[in-house]
Amino acid sequence: MTSAPKIGVLALQGDVREHVRALEESGAAAVPVRRPGELAAVDALVVPGGESTTMWKLAVTFEMLDPIRLRIKEGMPAYGSCAGMIMLADRIEGGVEGQETLGGIDMVVRRNAFGRQVDSFEADLDFAGRGEIRAVFIRAPWVESVGPDVEVLGRTAAGDRIVAVRQGPLLATSFHPELTGDARVHSYFVEMVREF
Ligand code: GLN
Repeated sequence: MTSAPKIGVLALQGDVREHVRALEESGAAAVPVRRPGELAAVDALVVPGGESTTMWKLAVTFEMLDPIRLRIKEGMPAYGSCAGMIMLADRIEGGVEGQETLGGIDMVVRRNAFGRQVDSFEADLDFAGRGEIRAVFIRAPWVESVGPDVEVLGRTAAGDRIVAVRQGPLLATSFHPELTGDARVHSYFVEMVREF
């Protein structure tokens, strides 16, 4: 792919604008996606941070859950941050009754894993062997366990928790790189999209 890849940001709920900005800084053409028709027009999708229970319910209401699942099955690259990581998990712990995800990554993700005392915090961590990045965690999940095809791209220095993973064209982080002004995680994703 030589031209700028067209990357959608799921715009049902969450911090959409920040992802659009970081993607554009990384050389992609970014557009908000709310409808199946808009989904069909993008090469890849970002699922933002926000609230996974709300996002799931809105995805059902807007009839987006199955179309996104299908695109993921067909190999569309996707990146989820925080609530988006929860959405890309095949299995979750600590969900509300009946909570569904889009799935795609063979992992168990625990919602609100870092606990009430540390609702939000920042930490420096190595991302995908590309040096230290500042990671912002807000009521963040962590990855409890991963299947054999999942590559771990980042862990917290304290507690050694898995907070960044990749499985083929799917990427997920517990933290919010869209809030730091450092677009290296988005650049990594845009490179992935160019490869697929
Ligand atoms: N705790 C939220 C959830 O369960 C995620 C928080 C976030 O995206 N900042 O969806």
